[in-house]
Amino acid sequence: MSHKAVFGVDIGGTKLRVGLVDEHFEIVDALVTQDHCWLSPHEMLDFVVAQVTTLRHRYLHHRVLGCGVGYPGPINFFKGTTFSYSNLRGSGWEGVSLSNLLSTQINLPVWIDNDANLAGLAEVYFGAGQGFSHCVYLTISTGLGGAIFVDGKLYRGFLGYAGEFGHMVVDSHGAYCKCGNRGCLMSLLSGLGIEKLVQEDPACRFIFTPEENPTLCVQKLVELAARGDRVALEVIQPLIQYLQIAFLNVIEILNPEVIVVGGSLGKALLRHFVTPVEEYLLAHLPIEVVKHTVIREARLGDYNGVLGGALLAFQELEKGGEKDKKEKHK
Ligand SMILES: [Zn+2]
Repeated sequence: MSHKAVFGVDIGGTKLRVGLVDEHFEIVDALVTQDHCWLSPHEMLDFVVAQVTTLRHRYLHHRVLGCGVGYPGPINFFKGTTFSYSNLRGSGWEGVSLSNLLSTQINLPVWIDNDANLAGLAEVYFGAGQGFSHCVYLTISTGLGGAIFVDGKLYRGFLGYAGEFGHMVVDSHGAYCKCGNRGCLMSLLSGLGIEKLVQEDPACRFIFTPEENPTLCVQKLVELAARGDRVALEVIQPLIQYLQIAFLNVIEILNPEVIVVGGSLGKALLRHFVTPVEEYLLAHLPIEVVKHTVIREARLGDYNGVLGGALLAFQELEKGGEKDKKEKHK
């Protein structure tokens, strides 16, 4: 008997994961690479097609029905087309019809959504967001993204642009962001933002040697600060403030029941600095609201994007099936 399955693809800012996921949401197999960040859209498509084809040939007895893809940047979900910029380092990502191009090459229906939307979707179905109707998912790693769930459903907005928490302006004189604006949360509070801070803040010379890998510096900075290192705490202080402002704004606008925080940096910050965040919220919001807002660490691991992609594909296939049934009965 053939097993039903879909592909879940997570094009991350650092790693690219392609997984074959069965109808019970078990990841049958997955490939992980990290040589994709500088690729052009067409090179990226060839790269993804090669990974999908490898898995397809390994599991010929699986009946693959579709593919859900997480893209690291804003995307018009309804058209499957990218907006003007992405968190990838290569160029030419403006207005690319990703879902059509990929669908033609792998001969499967393809749905593409923002990567944070899909990671959040997986958390709501299988992880820390389970059982909550109103959820905000925030992920902080290389970049910063988020997803909004209203009445249990992913809210995408009019063009699929909703939930771009990374581009919420928190300092109009702050560093320039990839989107062209200044002081976006992502340009300050993310792996890339902290790498820049580590390189530019003179105090960091007391903590890091110039040879140290900037990505590892981000983790070291958080760990040192958590252990009470005076210089690290001073360097990290503005980041804690941005985290406080981010939580405040999210609660002010959306009043979620739960805020799930994912991403390696997000989880580390929450683990060590949730108390100053909670104290700030208590000082700036009605106590009733703070008391009833749960803040949780994401539960799923590195494959949340793959699972989210698979969920999206199965959900859309189901909708298509329902539509076919209704049309047959007309
Ligand atoms: Zn921005």
